Amino acid sequence: MAAPLVRTLSKVGRHISRPWGAGQAGVRSRSTRSAPDVASEQAAGLGVSFPPLQTYSEEEGMMRDAVKKYAQERIAPFVSKMDENSAMDEEVIKSLFEQGLMGIEIDPEYGGTGSTFFSSILVIEELAKVDPSVAVLCDIQNTLINTLVANLGTLAQKEHYLSRLSTDMVGSFCLSEAESGSDAFALKTRAEKQKDYYVINGSKMWISNAEHAGVFLVMANVDPAAGYRGITCFIVDRDTEGLEICKKENKLGLRASSTCPLNFDNVKVPEKNILGKVGQGYKYAIGMLNEGRIGIAAQMLGLAQGCFDHTVPYTRQRVQFGKRIFDFQGMQHQIAHVATQIEAARLLTYNAARLKEAGRPFIKEACMAKYFAAEVATLTTSKCIEWMGGVGFTKDYPIEKYYRDCKIGTIYEGTTNVQLSTMANFLF
Ligand SMILES: Cc1cc2nc3c(=O)[nH]c(=O)nc-3n(C[C@H](O)[C@H](O)[C@H](O)COP(=O)(O)OP(=O)(O)OC[C@H]3O[C@@H](n4cnc5c(N)ncnc54)[C@H](O)[C@@H]3O)c2cc1C
Repeated sequence: MAAPLVRTLSKVGRHISRPWGAGQAGVRSRSTRSAPDVASEQAAGLGVSFPPLQTYSEEEGMMRDAVKKYAQERIAPFVSKMDENSAMDEEVIKSLFEQGLMGIEIDPEYGGTGSTFFSSILVIEELAKVDPSVAVLCDIQNTLINTLVANLGTLAQKEHYLSRLSTDMVGSFCLSEAESGSDAFALKTRAEKQKDYYVINGSKMWISNAEHAGVFLVMANVDPAAGYRGITCFIVDRDTEGLEICKKENKLGLRASSTCPLNFDNVKVPEKNILGKVGQGYKYAIGMLNEGRIGIAAQMLGLAQGCFDHTVPYTRQRVQFGKRIFDFQGMQHQIAHVATQIEAARLLTYNAARLKEAGRPFIKEACMAKYFAAEVATLTTSKCIEWMGGVGFTKDYPIEKYYRDCKIGTIYEGTTNVQLSTMANFLF
């Protein structure tokens, strides 16, 4: 078994006092003080006290580099086959656990890496450069599932589930239904109380990673008369009788990430499997999706960067009219424009992540980051195909896959319209 990169890094972090521990406010300035890099030293020399946004703590920088290498060595060889077969390779999932990438913020007490939200964002970005499907597996696990259990779980739930989620169990987040997408809290799945258990009936749609999930966090209504105030979050184990994981969708992109409907037919769930409080599920879902959007922004950012990095070298080799196509001013202006858009998406994403980590308001910024990064990914992948000419349109290069994969960024964890409406609410 390969050495877990991230756990190793985490140990290094602890050794040098690890002031960037999860949950601490002011992470950015703290981590910079403890592990100054060139940029912040220069800033200090100039008497400037605020380091640039792209300043990483020592642990963050090491994690980013380690994941970049891991993704190239352990994921890249599988990408094309996984897309073609529309299936995630089990080895890839296993290696994500081995590297400590499925429990980035989980406390080491439960087998996790004990790192920060910002580290998760960097990991998602690096994975998405190589395969956005792998990135979303890691994203949902870290930004939705683990966080919900860590924040709301009882001691027994944490002991049982966090230790599995960090080592060998994939989790799925189940909110959407056939008739409730953007209007998520109109969900119809019902949970009826009987003695010391609940009986769940209904169905869910679009559940990411369901094919491999061992546990499902399911939003169901215990009191439809109370409307969304009846929505409650249940922890449902995969092998629970009456739970059916149906045939996965045949999708345009993100094909290696399974997306399945689920049926609940008299699924009995013990009361002790309620996550948090009865009737608070809508609050938990909103809270988690606000954070999760920063993860999707990081996925779209990584996707755009990965596509760009694959394409630009081609423009520097391909010769037409006796010149490299990169040397035409018409090409250079387009390439510089896209590079600027990617950089802007990175700054929005990192800013939202740093705000969240510092305990400051971040919802508007998270929406902006997700909305903008999805737009940038769409622009980048479209332009990259054009810059490659005919070969960009074929499966001989990975560009067409990035083009297909990026579309989901405008749909899940809140469509682009939903992001814009949320932003507008904050603006006015
Ligand atoms: C690949 C994939 C993975 C997913 N993974 C998960 C998952 O793991 N868990 C989960 O719970 N869900 C998941 N989803 C569901 C996803 O979150 C929903 O698809 C999304 O919220 C949109 O809902 P919808 O598809 O019903 O579209 P609709 O809500 O029907 O929207 C259709 C169009 O109408 C627009 N629209 C709707 N309402 C408004 C409005 N008020 N104002 C302006 N425009 C509006 C939308 O912006 C969109 O353009 C996934 C979806 C996909 C495709």
